[in-house]
Amino acid sequence: MDNRLKISPPLYLIGQKIFCWRCDSKMSVIALLAPHIEDTENQVCVLSDIVELPKEVLLYIQKRVPTFKRRYSKMAGKKYFCNTCPKCGVMSGDFFLHSEPGAPFFPTEEEEAKSLYITEIPLSGSITAKASLCLGTGDLILENAKKI
Ligand SMILES: [Zn+2]
Repeated sequence: MDNRLKISPPLYLIGQKIFCWRCDSKMSVIALLAPHIEDTENQVCVLSDIVELPKEVLLYIQKRVPTFKRRYSKMAGKKYFCNTCPKCGVMSGDFFLHSEPGAPFFPTEEEEAKSLYITEIPLSGSITAKASLCLGTGDLILENAKKI
């Protein structure tokens, strides 16, 4: 599902380092977390399959993690912003990073959530983005991720 989301601040960047599934290099993977999205009753949501982002947000992310790029995903059947390996360039699709319990952005216990960092992205006001939402794991991340 692709939603046009209206997001009120704060918006958080979350991430960690994993090993590339193809070449085993260390790579950064990131996602966005938002506690105030319209029509979600203030559930803390993790965004995945991000198709559109405001320029200011994208610039903030890519300055820190330049390997976050728009790519075509065969599996998703569309272009979206995804995490790519700095060495071999292969993408680690959001399906693998978000969908299975225990995946980098689907922690199921405090210890897993603690391996993520979290930092607030400065916003001048509400923004809109086009992305999918993952519910249910955001609170655990917000409470346990390492603030930087
Ligand atoms: Zn690689």
